[in-house]
Amino acid sequence: MKIAKRVSQVTPSLTLAIDTKAKAMKAEGIDICSFSAGEPNFETPEHIRTAAKQALDQGKTRYGPAAGEPKLRAAIAHKLQQENHLPYNAENIVVTNGGKHSLFNLMLALIEPGDEVIIPAPYWLSYPEMVKLAEGTPVIVPTDAASGYKITPDQLRSAITPKTRLFVLNSPNNPTGMVYTPDEIRAIAQVIVEQDLLVVSDEIYEQHLYDGVEHLSIGSIDADIFSRTIVSSGFAKTYAMTGWRVGYLAAPLALVKAVTTIQGHSTSNVCTFAQYGAIAALESSQDCVAQMRQAFADRRHVMLDALNTIPGLSCAKPDGAFYLFPDISKTGLGSLEFCDRLLEKQNVAVIPGVAFGADDHIRLSYATDMTTIQIGMERLSQFMHSLT
Ligand code: GLU
Repeated sequence: MKIAKRVSQVTPSLTLAIDTKAKAMKAEGIDICSFSAGEPNFETPEHIRTAAKQALDQGKTRYGPAAGEPKLRAAIAHKLQQENHLPYNAENIVVTNGGKHSLFNLMLALIEPGDEVIIPAPYWLSYPEMVKLAEGTPVIVPTDAASGYKITPDQLRSAITPKTRLFVLNSPNNPTGMVYTPDEIRAIAQVIVEQDLLVVSDEIYEQHLYDGVEHLSIGSIDADIFSRTIVSSGFAKTYAMTGWRVGYLAAPLALVKAVTTIQGHSTSNVCTFAQYGAIAALESSQDCVAQMRQAFADRRHVMLDALNTIPGLSCAKPDGAFYLFPDISKTGLGSLEFCDRLLEKQNVAVIPGVAFGADDHIRLSYATDMTTIQIGMERLSQFMHSLT
């Protein structure tokens, strides 16, 4: 069957494919250590589950407004005002089926055929594919360990053409875990304003910060950058709610209207009772977030220390998210071959860097339990020794 070109040009999501494979192997009883998808291994906190169950029992089982439950939109706006210093109101928020869906809708609402979207590499693998699905052109700007895998203002400026519409900022970053400092964010903002571009700030990992590092929402700097900013985020990573599929977009009203129209003809509202769980997540104590953050911080230490003692691998220390992104170039293997062999020989699942635009790296998620991390690092060490 002939498939539309817009889809046939797109690569399927490798994070989802490898995660699905690893979960299927586990279900078959295979002793696998999976560091594949970035999925917190914690249960969704009890008070959030209870709120969703109560919502079900209270009949929150009907269609709702396409842009989301008014109470949730207001709670998200309140959070963005208080925590991120972004002056959004409820009407600036669209509740989406996860952070991924908010970004997809944004691309569809904003990008015209031929519009260029600047994406620093390494990038989360879905960004370029979403741009292509919207018939735009992803413009990939490579970064390396020397610059902390961060784009510089000069690199950004050089990538801009008359066709540039949008810049994708993701800090803390997936897959590198790097966090732009407030000064670096300000310098990027200056270029965006000067060149009159838009920026989408994917802040899904904003709560995953270690060693006292600070997150600055780019839109909070001043009114000029705020009017050019779109925020994408969600509940999956912060509250261990990956399967719930609740995310959001915060944007100027015209864009909110456009995205709501798209949702009105595609998904309609996000699962109504799931939205009540999200309200409870925002309106209750944030102790659960702090507890999970501490667990991730401990795992990061253990995994990073173990990785950096394995000859042939080197890994920069990330300040955020829950990924490590070691360099495998010394092995002489491409990342796909490396990951295939590692899975086959040691039952360890990791994501090849090629999916993120960096074939000389692999990505490991440490959003898993400590025992898996310890056993997995042992196996990775054995694998690396088998290569020499
Ligand atoms: N965003 C997560 C990851 O990068 C989940 C999988 C996906 O949506 O790509 O692992």
